Amino acid sequence: MATDLLFLRDAHARSVDATVTDVHEGVRQVALDRTIFYPTGGGQPHDTGTLDGAQVTEVRKEGDVVWHTLAGDGPLPVAGTRVRGELDWDRRHRLMRTHTALHVLCGVIWNEWGTAVTGGNMEPLSARMDFEFDPLPEGFGTTVEALVNAELDADRPIEVSFLDRSVAVTDEDLIRTKVNMIPESVTEIRVVDIVGLDKQADGGTHVASTSEVGRIRVVKTESKGKGNKRIRIEVLDG
Ligand SMILES: [Zn+2]
Repeated sequence: MATDLLFLRDAHARSVDATVTDVHEGVRQVALDRTIFYPTGGGQPHDTGTLDGAQVTEVRKEGDVVWHTLAGDGPLPVAGTRVRGELDWDRRHRLMRTHTALHVLCGVIWNEWGTAVTGGNMEPLSARMDFEFDPLPEGFGTTVEALVNAELDADRPIEVSFLDRSVAVTDEDLIRTKVNMIPESVTEIRVVDIVGLDKQADGGTHVASTSEVGRIRVVKTESKGKGNKRIRIEVLDG
């Protein structure tokens, strides 16, 4: 049975009541009918928290099912029973701030230099992203830090919507951010829109406005080869 991914529609939900749909005893994994736990994917690490008080140490999605790994050696919940999930909200919110900061970075770099992102990864309050620069522009780190922080100060709202694939593939902003790379089997595209700055097909969790991110600092820029330059940032309180 597919798990309903509540975090796609409400990134600010911190707890959930759900029904256990399946259990893998040996590896201590529990599947639920619905979840607020984000599974590792799209450069964003999985959430942690508790399920009926037991620590959730890993969350992964296999097909349509989200599996929550429980720590310890206590008894696992039985299929069909109700459980309560609670997120480690401090960690999740830091990841949301970091993920949104990366989208702001993408928007700023595209607007200023017309350069596309090639990859990235994040941890709570720190992240790296790679862009098709060759070479990096003069004074890049200082400039990009100021531009990103100006956009964070601008308090732009972040809107999440779900578009039919046939509509999404005709949207210029989504074409720029490679909506066509999404497998054809996906018929509904989730769109994260930092209004007026950056719009992408994305499955991650984000804050509600750019001011909720705080500020960023460019920690380092480095070359990862021809046409590939890496930017490391940290996210600070506003
Ligand atoms: Zn993203």
